[in-house]
Amino acid sequence: MIDQKTGDKMQNKMWENNAALDKLAELSIKTGVALTAGQELLITAPCEAAPLVRRLAYHAYKEGAGVVTPLFSDPEVTLMRYRHARPESFDHATQWLFDGMAQAFDANTARLAVVGEDPMLLSQQNPGNVGRANQAMSKASSAVRERITRFDINWSIIAWPGLAWAKQVFPLLSDEEAQLALADAIFKASRADLDDPIAAWVEHNKNLRMRTDWLNKKSFVALRFYGGGTDLTVGLARDHEWMGGASVARNGITCNPNIPSEEVFTTPHALKVEGTARSTKPLSYQGTLIEDICVTFKAGSITEATASRGEDVFLKLLDTDDGARRLGEVALVPNSSPISQSGLLFYNTLFDENAACHIALGQCYSKCFRNSENLSAEDIVERGGNVSMVHVDWMIGSEEIDIDGIAEDGSTISVFRKGEWA
Ligand code: ZN
Ligand code: ZN
Repeated sequence: MIDQKTGDKMQNKMWENNAALDKLAELSIKTGVALTAGQELLITAPCEAAPLVRRLAYHAYKEGAGVVTPLFSDPEVTLMRYRHARPESFDHATQWLFDGMAQAFDANTARLAVVGEDPMLLSQQNPGNVGRANQAMSKASSAVRERITRFDINWSIIAWPGLAWAKQVFPLLSDEEAQLALADAIFKASRADLDDPIAAWVEHNKNLRMRTDWLNKKSFVALRFYGGGTDLTVGLARDHEWMGGASVARNGITCNPNIPSEEVFTTPHALKVEGTARSTKPLSYQGTLIEDICVTFKAGSITEATASRGEDVFLKLLDTDDGARRLGEVALVPNSSPISQSGLLFYNTLFDENAACHIALGQCYSKCFRNSENLSAEDIVERGGNVSMVHVDWMIGSEEIDIDGIAEDGSTISVFRKGEWA
């Protein structure tokens, strides 16, 4: 047995001189969040990510950060709740904390989320309690979600190679080998392994912009996904705009909300989705693994849903509100994306969503509209944008999927063939 201090020291030693970890931190501050001098920064992270959070703080202060505030979560403390809390606990969430975060965003605080939790953390816990706690948290955090999906401020998400997560991705390796292997996969996918990651992202953003420009010029009214048990027609919102890579927040700062990111995405029409979709990768949702999802949409809403694993939690998610049964995002990712080519299943949306085309249930990004800064919440709904307390991406793409774009006059154009841009 080792005490906390020794454990900390071992972790620090393992990462202390890791050049790629430092590059990831620098990339995250300069390109991801794109922190400006004087801005405050709020970081959320699992406690084991402390070595990365310290590098982030270093680069943030070098960029002139006001105050950097880390909020750490501990998986052991989360588990203690499920094991020992009174039943009423599961209908509660820390409203005060989310209100404080919303207040911080209103004062122009930038936001950085570090993910890296165990995708299976809650797999042995009562799914009813997990579903209730997720719902309570979605409700309590609505003001935060609103500000993030509206891009009020610059924000970004990056990943830390958490040990439990690493063992899920590389079950045959030793603890240290698994963590280093996941770290390498994260650095590679994030382009932090290159000599000049910041320049690489400028180039990458240019390529994504080419795709979004083409799609915006076509302004399809719908996309049809078919193959591999999926036949889904996704109507697109009126005045929708395709986005990808860098994004200008309402405070005028251009940030890269996801590192890595290979997707281009837009807003579907909440009332115009028809057909059947099957998931092509497991979805890790708040510590529960949900596999083999199959849903049927009628007039935009899911009328039937099954999953071979995690079905209880998935059905509870759909019951969060009316918008949780409707689409808020559709995203295109070629099968040749570097993350897809790595052949790894990450069990983490930040990575897996960049390996396959996907859809998201719930809240839309109001930024994915032409002249979005002048649109009110009512304008967004009127154009077909979905409203919900959740936003959950899951993968429907594979090398078996073809996608057609449907134009206003009903004619079709190939967009994807066998999982690649046509
Ligand atoms: Zn997405
Ligand atoms: Zn999404």
